Amino acid sequence: MEALKKVGNFLLNLLGFRVNSRYVKKYLNDANIRSSIYMASIVIILEVWMIIRQTIKYIAPGWANAPSGFNLIFSYISLYLLFIMASISMLIFAINYLKKKQTNKDFITNLVVGGLSFFWILLLILENHVGTLRFNNSNNVIASTTTILVYVSLAIFGAAICGYTLYRHKFNKNSTVLSIVVISCFALICLLFGIKVGYSDFAHPTSPTDPKYNVDKIKMITCFLTMIIFVACLLIWKPYISIIMLTSIFIFFLELLKSYEGREFLDGDQVNYFTFLISLTMVTVSIYQQRVAEAKKDEKLIHTAQYDGLIDVFNTRHLSELIEDNSKENINYKDNKIFLFINIFNFKIINNQRGFDAGDNFLKDFAKAAQKAFPNDLISRQADDHFIIYTNVDGVDKKIDELNNYLKSVVGNLFISLKVGGYRPRPDEKTNRSIDKARYACNKIHNKFEVTYFEYDEKMDKEFEKYQYIINSLDEAIEKGYVQAFYQPVVWGNDKTLCGAEALARWIDPIYGFLSPADFIPVLEEARLIHKLDAAIIEYVCKNMRIAIDANRPVVPISINFSRIDFELMDVKKEVDERIKKYNIDKQYIHIEITESALSEKMDLLTKQVNALKNDGYAIWLDDFGSGYSSLNVLKDFDFDVVKIDMEFLKNFDTNSKTKDILECIITLADRLHMMTLTEGVETKSQADFLKEIGCGRLQGYLFGKPMKLEDFEDKINKKELVISNHVLQPNTDNKK
Ligand code: C2E
Ligand code: MG
Ligand code: MG
Repeated sequence: MEALKKVGNFLLNLLGFRVNSRYVKKYLNDANIRSSIYMASIVIILEVWMIIRQTIKYIAPGWANAPSGFNLIFSYISLYLLFIMASISMLIFAINYLKKKQTNKDFITNLVVGGLSFFWILLLILENHVGTLRFNNSNNVIASTTTILVYVSLAIFGAAICGYTLYRHKFNKNSTVLSIVVISCFALICLLFGIKVGYSDFAHPTSPTDPKYNVDKIKMITCFLTMIIFVACLLIWKPYISIIMLTSIFIFFLELLKSYEGREFLDGDQVNYFTFLISLTMVTVSIYQQRVAEAKKDEKLIHTAQYDGLIDVFNTRHLSELIEDNSKENINYKDNKIFLFINIFNFKIINNQRGFDAGDNFLKDFAKAAQKAFPNDLISRQADDHFIIYTNVDGVDKKIDELNNYLKSVVGNLFISLKVGGYRPRPDEKTNRSIDKARYACNKIHNKFEVTYFEYDEKMDKEFEKYQYIINSLDEAIEKGYVQAFYQPVVWGNDKTLCGAEALARWIDPIYGFLSPADFIPVLEEARLIHKLDAAIIEYVCKNMRIAIDANRPVVPISINFSRIDFELMDVKKEVDERIKKYNIDKQYIHIEITESALSEKMDLLTKQVNALKNDGYAIWLDDFGSGYSSLNVLKDFDFDVVKIDMEFLKNFDTNSKTKDILECIITLADRLHMMTLTEGVETKSQADFLKEIGCGRLQGYLFGKPMKLEDFEDKINKKELVISNHVLQPNTDNKK
């Protein structure tokens, strides 16, 4: 049973009963159109040659005594003329079809060549009335059917070319159905021509006593066979269609020959005739299979180039290409259109909680829901959980609502929401820039839980330019030294002597002036470029430390900030290792600061890297402790050298009585876990006194110094405004409670 099924499947496949994808269908159709070009060209050359031959052989010698020139010409070359005309029409149609764009000239030529068919039918009818009917020599029914079929095919051929031309003019796209009709009619005209000429050859000469009898017998059906090979091998339909078509044509021709009484059709010829049919059928099957295999391979390649690797939507590069192509052809294409940048906010929860496979399936389903909410619109995935949709402005709110409702229905009580940024492109604007603007609008509502949709407006242009500038000029800014570190002093809690400094990035730009981390860190994180900046800061810190050591100036340990994404984009340990080796710096002089929110996601990669750094002897400092959600878990999972208590705790130090209790508890907790403490944002003496009292190891804040240029920092040390501790490398516990 299984075997039977396999054989059945194999045959279905072989005969082309399987439905092909749209791409494969188009590929086969285009291949047929191209074949028609070769076929038409060859036919034109052959027929011109035939006309010349006929003219020299029959028309020229008989011209002087001919009763009517028209009749003479028609009796010898009308068929060839018809065939040339049909081939020219086919050639022009096929060339125009394959052109990407139809110009007005193409439109007119196509209409003319289509219309010519009708003119030719008229001429043929005239010929049959005025001149001699080509099949007058036999009263065969099949023969006159052939004549009528030529008329009909010619009429449909012309009508299909004209119909196609008007269709393309109106809708600006090719009509596959009409092109198939055109090719089929052309093939039919070729076959009928083959039948007619083949049959006429067969019918002359009539007597076996004629010396040319045997010679003509050989060539009698050659024309028919030539045409059949043309049609069968160049134009490939589904094998079962080819088989039906070839068999009926063969039977038709066979009947035609058999019914001719003047000549005998031998049994042996019949066998040859059918062997030929079978071979031809096999050839068509094999060509078809070969073309389908090529088409599928091509389709796969194109799919890889145009589609997203995971989800069945375009990639953004292809979406841009489609939009650019369309807007080139149609100046108003971008009117009333809008780009949507879609972000599934907090999507990583799904990956973390349900695993990556579930995450992938979630995105696939989301893409399907997007296709349903935005039918007929261009959709692409940009990366991760980001999608781009190019749609009409009308009704966009309703569609976004639909997608939002879908998302709400599938995320349950997970803290995941839909964020959509919109941008209406200007006519001459590049697609990538429009997408950037939509994304920019989307980022604006990143932290606003209740807002789903936000549209870019022109007032945001200035901010957007700055955002783009930061992304585009980072490399140059690093290279030219516009990016540097400022140093903020860190002091011991008990004697306020200097025990280190934090390196904080600053960008001093020739156009925008002074840029603080708030201006560029989130932008670079989002653009996944932050690792470049941080690598530059490591370099800056290590290099200047080496310069200071070489100049016999005192140095203190420096803590450097790292973002979560740094650990995805670079090997942090390798980067730091390389620099300390290059400048020969002691590991103990570099501290690694990682924010609590970065660690709370428990990414494998990050955990591994942090542990590797720790095991290698680097001090790991937990930044902004208490500002996120899962602080205590983080303390459980990692061994930090220093916990930096977030400056938020000191915000209402004097008014909120709970503040002090919380700070005291945190410090006791850290002590119990054998971690040291540092409180950030110390601005007043009373805060510093209290922190000393409760045993906070280190203090950092404006009270001891704002972040400053390296020269200023060293200047303050020289002037003893900042006094370096004798215990720079170990905790100063002299006065600890
Ligand atoms: P952070 O690491 O928590 O740095 C402390 C921030 O608090 C600094 O802001 C500093 O200027 C500010 N600050 C220090 N003392 C006081 C004070 O007494 N009162 C007040 N109101 N503020 C104080 P900054 O330099 O603007 O940096 C902001 C954040 O940007 C940093 O927070 C850090 O997360 C990030 N960042 C800075 N530089 C870098 C860097 O090189 N790489 C990475 N990845 N992030 C950086
Ligand atoms: Mg920090
Ligand atoms: Mg901090």
